[in-house]
Amino acid sequence: MSASVSEDLFAKATQVIPGGVNSPVRAWAGVGGSPRFVASAKGARLTDEDGNEYIDYIGSWGPMILGHAPEVVLDALSAAAPSGTSFGAPTRSEVVLAEKITELVASIERVRLVNSGTEATMSALRLARAATGHSEIVKFAGCYHGHADGLLVRAGSGATTLGVPDSPGVPEAIAALTKLANYNDVESVRRVVGADTAAIIVEPVAGNMGLVLPEPGFLEALRTIADETGALLIFDEVISGFRASLGGYQTVCGVLPDLTCLGKVIGGGLPVGAYGGRADLMQQISPAGPVYQAGTLSGNPLAVAAGLATLRALEQGDPYADLAAKGSRLADGLRAALGERTGCVAQLGSLLTLFFGRREVRNYDDAGGLDTGRFARFFQAMLDEGIWLPPSQYECWFLSTAHTDADIDATIAAAERAIAATD
Ligand SMILES: *Cc1c(COP(=O)(O)O)cnc(C)c1O
Repeated sequence: MSASVSEDLFAKATQVIPGGVNSPVRAWAGVGGSPRFVASAKGARLTDEDGNEYIDYIGSWGPMILGHAPEVVLDALSAAAPSGTSFGAPTRSEVVLAEKITELVASIERVRLVNSGTEATMSALRLARAATGHSEIVKFAGCYHGHADGLLVRAGSGATTLGVPDSPGVPEAIAALTKLANYNDVESVRRVVGADTAAIIVEPVAGNMGLVLPEPGFLEALRTIADETGALLIFDEVISGFRASLGGYQTVCGVLPDLTCLGKVIGGGLPVGAYGGRADLMQQISPAGPVYQAGTLSGNPLAVAAGLATLRALEQGDPYADLAAKGSRLADGLRAALGERTGCVAQLGSLLTLFFGRREVRNYDDAGGLDTGRFARFFQAMLDEGIWLPPSQYECWFLSTAHTDADIDATIAAAERAIAATD
């Protein structure tokens, strides 16, 4: 049997790149088989190196809320590139993007641009420790905040899929400063929060153990606990920022954090992250204050141009109503396809996860009971149907404004067949 182009590429890749990929979940360890290599993408569709076309629900894991290669972003990139691609000096467009972020995200008065979500959370924690003089952080099992040492503790998705909840190379002394609580369990927070807590960091909508929504009162209680103890409340809105609404999930839930981390959508498919919050806190960042954080490519003109073009497009009309309608159309269809089988569909706007093996997922303990074998069979059956899902049970599906009702109906029809075939 002759290998596909993707299989050939993967064989070559494994000779020069660890595991053949530049980020673990791309290797399909959770579902088996050899990953397909993407040749191009447009709108809601991906084309692989063998010429197969798919409806895409990965959306680069969140950034592509307008679909792939949207004209507004392509135009912004071709307008920006001839003027230079990096200067190591401030530019006008960074100011415009920072103004837009402070205007859109309720709790952000000052913001610093970085290159990834990982950098954003790492820097926000450093600031929280500096501002409070405390060392410990509280995080939730199943929440992922990037791969900084202290945050790779029960970190969900990639780590969950690969079965490495704690990575070698993270010193025990660093991991010991991270206290674990359970999502949607206020008492578990009270048990670990203490006099030395610098921050409670949380995904206000959890997207890295599959989609898990905060229960009423949960985020409010975190705000109260932070205020009582002097810890800062950090919302990691790397997924939910500009996705749950233009102002992120904090606008939806009305609970304001002290610091917010952004990524994914904010770069429109180019590498951008950001952290921001109250002015008195952010003014402690160098060179306004003593807390050091820097970046050669931070505020990169191409990345900022793509991000700004994306945010401006999201301000036109009401894309969030449209995304939510599509999200619930897909969720309803998947629930119907699931029928009486044990499973459930979580959905918020354009985020969605189809869970096999449990009727409810409230936290990471529940996620441990999922039927990952069934998900893997479903994933492969969907791929044969031309639907490319995130290759793990512990991830969100990402809808974009480019997905049409016809795409969604085709996905539902495919899911009916794929679910029946995996009984
Ligand atoms: C993706 C993600 C990150 C990390 O962002 P990178 O850009 O991959 O470093 C952090 N937090 C959350 C909630 C994420 O989903």
